[in-house]
Amino acid sequence: MADQLKQVRSWYGLRGEIGVNNQLWHLVRVGGIPLPHPPLINLVLRAGLPREERLRLNFLHEFGHLQTFPFAFLHAAWLIFFRRKRGTQSGTFLKRIGLGLIAHQALWELSSELYALVKAGSEYRQIYHKNPNPLAQSLFWGGMTSLAILPNLLFFRWGNMKSGSVSARW
Ligand SMILES: [Zn+2]
Repeated sequence: MADQLKQVRSWYGLRGEIGVNNQLWHLVRVGGIPLPHPPLINLVLRAGLPREERLRLNFLHEFGHLQTFPFAFLHAAWLIFFRRKRGTQSGTFLKRIGLGLIAHQALWELSSELYALVKAGSEYRQIYHKNPNPLAQSLFWGGMTSLAILPNLLFFRWGNMKSGSVSARW
């Protein structure tokens, strides 16, 4: 597979390798370390697209993960900061970790796809105009936006709540 990996360089200088060779398989590697993420985009948003368009948009999306990595890192730091600020209360730890992971992954998926959308420009709209799949598009954009916003709002609330009311609710 190594010969099919494309070398890329992010705007902040970090180099990586990206492979998007078939409908499910994709890889983003930074410094030899793979950045794992579920193939949500391939399964949902690209459903029904011709192979060439699918691979082109998938490549841009995977590059988007690398390009937005500093923001994803800052977001993870923000989530950890809020959790530490309020402390960990019994019974809520796993819920917070789970919600934190969902919030983080959803926001990163959303920002990576926004990167692909901006980079592809009018081509992005044309591809989906020629191959309409409104259900998949609504599922992805609606679902990811909700998953990105709601858990983050909860974290923000936790960060501003008195600890007593936090344990009463969660
Ligand atoms: Zn992704």
